[in-house]
Amino acid sequence: MTQSPDESPARRNHPSKLFVEVTTHCNLGCAMCVKQTKHHGMTEGVMADEIFSALTPAFPHLEALILNGIGEPLLHPKLESFIRRAKELMPATGWIGFQSNGLLLNEGRAASLVEAGLDRICISMDAASPETFRRLREGGEVGDIEQAFRALTAAREVHLASRLDIGIEFVVMRDNIRELPEVIRWAARRGASFALVTQLVPYDEAHISHVAYDNNTDEAVALFEEWKQIACQEGIDLRRYGEVAWRYSRTPEEQRIVDFVARMKEHALSRNIFINLEKLLARDEEWFAEATEIFDKARAVAIEEGIDLKLPELVPRQKRRCEFVEGGGAFVSWDGNVHPCYFLWHNYQCHVQGWNQMVRPRAFGSVAMRGILDIWNDKPFREFRENVLLYDYPHCFSCKLAPCDYVQADEFAQDCHIRSEPCGSCLWCMGVFQCLQ
Ligand code: SF4
Ligand code: SF4
Ligand code: SF4
Repeated sequence: MTQSPDESPARRNHPSKLFVEVTTHCNLGCAMCVKQTKHHGMTEGVMADEIFSALTPAFPHLEALILNGIGEPLLHPKLESFIRRAKELMPATGWIGFQSNGLLLNEGRAASLVEAGLDRICISMDAASPETFRRLREGGEVGDIEQAFRALTAAREVHLASRLDIGIEFVVMRDNIRELPEVIRWAARRGASFALVTQLVPYDEAHISHVAYDNNTDEAVALFEEWKQIACQEGIDLRRYGEVAWRYSRTPEEQRIVDFVARMKEHALSRNIFINLEKLLARDEEWFAEATEIFDKARAVAIEEGIDLKLPELVPRQKRRCEFVEGGGAFVSWDGNVHPCYFLWHNYQCHVQGWNQMVRPRAFGSVAMRGILDIWNDKPFREFRENVLLYDYPHCFSCKLAPCDYVQADEFAQDCHIRSEPCGSCLWCMGVFQCLQ
């Protein structure tokens, strides 16, 4: 099949990015990790050589090969061999990278990774202060990251042909966000050229209070701000809506509030904006003003230090875009199963929308049984990607009925738009979560 170079990566006849989980094992016990939650259903394992070899037909087409999922890639004894083998077959413009907690990065390991041809490494660093670091990354120390940076920069200097980019990943939470500007400065001065910041995925109910993103979308917040001003001019107290909305008999003042909200909802509907008044009224404006200021400061530090900074949204975007599908990504588990995205890679529970959501992995086949390109081009996987690109999904995030029976089913079958992909209840496409890609 001939393909236009402009064709969306999702529609090409090969994946353009492969995310490969080389191991699920880890040498840390981070408090916020899905592996630490009681109800995850992940099966631990290490990718066998034959499974990695089965990915070979995809390598000549790859823009990027990212060698991590849940787990620490440096624990895989053949990581360097995987890098070397993929590098030989990948286009010269393609890159290979992974995220790591950095604990195992001593001089010898850094040198062997650089020799193998590693292009990008992203080290987890969620705090600059030793106390916060220890609390968040149980078993790790800031000193370990310092050592990792020393080893990597030294290895890069020795291997003149190396094009290794070193960066950090910072998971933003309410209790560490104030350290972000300092962490960026710290990393830049030790050789980092990029900083990737993501919001916390709350895998456990206890994580919800740490979440730093808004419970409303950007368009809902903007519309609500407009109407709040009008309410103020008209002397309407919107906070009373919950109390008066269901009254059988209302005073003229109460009726004005109800009519006002009805007008606001109509306006939102006419602009295709989904609002949840309860969530909008509960919005912690002071917090978002402070978080915005911190992000601005982080941007200023990044410019000052010459580091490339990618910040997540503080307020989820109403206009969705799935970077995984749009970028032509395929996700391969350690056992060879092929998945469409980060969200549907594992078996776990999360609370990204404030309620308990069961997430089951969506797999389109295993490279242990079939070729990677066959799986990619097979009808079910193609249809999945085409459907995602339509973005015709409900907005569960703003839905007053959430969690409904559709999204709480043990096995998701469909949503209220009769769509069989759970994208309506996924926040990855709303700009709050990011990963190396
Ligand atoms: S380093 Fe990563 S995989 Fe390991 S416990 Fe921490 S978050 Fe989980
Ligand atoms: S699937 Fe359920 S939660 Fe999502 S928008 Fe539809 S009714 Fe609401
Ligand atoms: S579930 Fe989320 S991450 Fe997965 S394809 Fe849908 S929008 Fe993308």
